[in-house]
Amino acid sequence: MRDTRETPDIAVVGGGICGLTTALALEQRGFEPTVFEAASEYRPVGAGILLQTNALLVFDRLGVANRLREAGVALGGSAIHAPSGRVLKRLDLSFEREAFGYGFVSIHRADLLRILLDELDAEVRTGKRCVEVRDAETPTVRFEDGTRVHPDVLVGADGIDSTVRNLVAPSVEPRAMDAIVYRAIADVELPEQYRTRGVEVWGEGTYTGGAPLGPDRFYWFGTAPDRLENDPSDPREPAATLRQRFGDFPDPIPSVAEALDPDAVFVTGLDDVPELERWHRGSVVLAGDAAHAMLPFGGQGAAQGVEDALALAHAIDTHGDSSSAFRAYETDRKPRADRIRDESRRLGTVGTIESSLGARARNLAVGLVPSALVRRFRRRRASGTSLPETPVSGSGSGA
Ligand SMILES: Cc1cc2nc3c(=O)[nH]c(=O)nc-3n(C[C@H](O)[C@H](O)[C@H](O)COP(=O)(O)OP(=O)(O)OC[C@H]3O[C@@H](n4cnc5c(N)ncnc54)[C@H](O)[C@@H]3O)c2cc1C
Repeated sequence: MRDTRETPDIAVVGGGICGLTTALALEQRGFEPTVFEAASEYRPVGAGILLQTNALLVFDRLGVANRLREAGVALGGSAIHAPSGRVLKRLDLSFEREAFGYGFVSIHRADLLRILLDELDAEVRTGKRCVEVRDAETPTVRFEDGTRVHPDVLVGADGIDSTVRNLVAPSVEPRAMDAIVYRAIADVELPEQYRTRGVEVWGEGTYTGGAPLGPDRFYWFGTAPDRLENDPSDPREPAATLRQRFGDFPDPIPSVAEALDPDAVFVTGLDDVPELERWHRGSVVLAGDAAHAMLPFGGQGAAQGVEDALALAHAIDTHGDSSSAFRAYETDRKPRADRIRDESRRLGTVGTIESSLGARARNLAVGLVPSALVRRFRRRRASGTSLPETPVSGSGSGA
């Protein structure tokens, strides 16, 4: 185990949301991390993402929350609908704004990454796919291009299929859900009432919705039972399937489905990572999806990753050696992230119920959940992490 009192050489493997935020938090505490990212370049493509209050509070500590809000849309509220259009639950985000200074912001992922990259002085080396890590005490990281590095501290922020995780928690495999998710950004002129509101529709075996990214851009997602999409007797291309499936859903889903560019619809599986026994070994530590990838139903995966980032940087900064730093980080973060991962799985199971009777019972139950209970849950979600101060002052008035 290395002593980190002398400024350690820190390598962050994975330059996604968590890796870049970790590097930013470290750099603001005087470290000089290097990020190693597998992709050969950052490209302005991808889907949208919802940054919930807890994520924005971390970004506030890092001084970037205002930039993110300006690049995205600060949502006024959201609602869950039945496919008939009936509102099951409304979410008024003024509660979070008043209690914590931030509501929710929807933003293009590429804009989020661009802003993080722009704020960073750290070296971000692209085209560096880590293929192996050897020796947890004095790690050697080997990249696909044959090069190696020997950092004092190695942060594995390389996502759900993490290579770094093989050293910390060998033989752990992501768990697949029997469903897929479509994501796209549609250029569509939104009616006024949808320009600052998110929407969800809970159907039979489908969970769809999204949020505006601007007055004429909408980030849309929709799940479908896996086996339906793999039906070889259905030769229609996905966009047509989606228009048919969601065409009679409540507004603005049909107009969004109509505007989808078939070449810009991403289809992925839905997976999470089961609870790991540990998040660190020797001088190697995991963060973000590498440690706790979760199903997207709670909209918390990236938020938990950025909470990790701040907590990890704080622990490395305030403990004399990496072993006690990582123990403190894990004690702080693991119970919350594991709990939210489990909640997201339960929500996913309930949200994608296929039977008509089950879906109707669920929708009835959602409408009956007392508002006080929902508010308690939202308060715990927004504030449940400890937010160490950073040398940067908060970025302002909130979203
Ligand atoms: C459909 C869907 C919707 C979602 N919606 C939300 C939402 O609204 N709000 C929210 O908070 N979260 C959401 N999430 C979760 C969120 O996307 C993830 O939790 C988040 O992207 C994880 O960030 P990360 O940096 O840990 O991992 P990733 O985003 O996976 O980034 C990992 C990075 O590491 C790189 N990499 C991978 N392997 C290697 C390697 N071997 N060597 C070097 N680099 C490597 C990758 O190229 C990537 O850049 C959603 C997820 C899904 C699937």
